[in-house]
Amino acid sequence: MGKLFVISGSSGVGKGTVIKEFLKKHPEFKLSVSCTTRSPREGEIHGINYFFLSKDEFKTCIEQNEFLEYAEFSGNMYGTQKAYVEAKLAEGKNLILEIDTQGALNVKRIMPNAQLIFILPPSLQELEARLRGRHTETEEAIQKRLQTVKSEMENSKHFDYQIVNDSIDNAVAKLEELLIL
Ligand code: 5GP
Repeated sequence: MGKLFVISGSSGVGKGTVIKEFLKKHPEFKLSVSCTTRSPREGEIHGINYFFLSKDEFKTCIEQNEFLEYAEFSGNMYGTQKAYVEAKLAEGKNLILEIDTQGALNVKRIMPNAQLIFILPPSLQELEARLRGRHTETEEAIQKRLQTVKSEMENSKHFDYQIVNDSIDNAVAKLEELLIL
C-alpha cells in the first residue's frame, strides 16, 4: 500500500512549485487528480490536471457518495474521488493531494493515516510583497486574500507538519525529510 499525504497552503505561498520540484526528483510519488466543474485553463488536460465534469455529473458523484471530500471555490466545485485514491494506494503509489485546508482536515477524519502538511509563507509581510509583485490584483483583492491567509494559518495548527517556504530548495528538502521516511 502506498502512503497518503495532503498538502495545503494559501495561494501565493508557492506550494505548487515546491510540489512540482519534489515530484521531479521523486517519481515514486504521484499527484492526485481531482474533479472540478470549472473550465479547463489553456494547456490543461482532462485526466492530467483535473477530471473536468459538468455540474450535473458532479452532483451525481455527490449523490452516489463517490467523494472523499469536496468543496466550492468561487462558484466551482472541486472534489477528490474515493475510488481514485484507493486505487492509487493499492497500486503502491505514494499519493499527494494538493487541496484546500478544509478539504485536508476532512480527509484526515476519514483516513486518519493521511499525513497533513501545511506550507506557510515566511511571513505575512513577505506574502503581501509577493502578491503585490504579481501586479495582477486590486488592493481590495489583496486585502481579502491576506485575511483568508490569516485564518488558514490558524487552521494550519491542526496539520501534522508545517513547512515554511523561505526558499524553494529549503522547502523541497524539508518535504523530502517528511515524505521519505
Ligand atoms: P484552481 O482552480 O486554481 O485549480 O484551484 C482552486 C483551489 O481548489 C486550490 O486552492 C486547490 O488547492 C483547490 N482544490 C483542487 N482540487 C481540490 C479538491 O479535490 N478538493 C478540495 N477541497 N480542494 C481542491
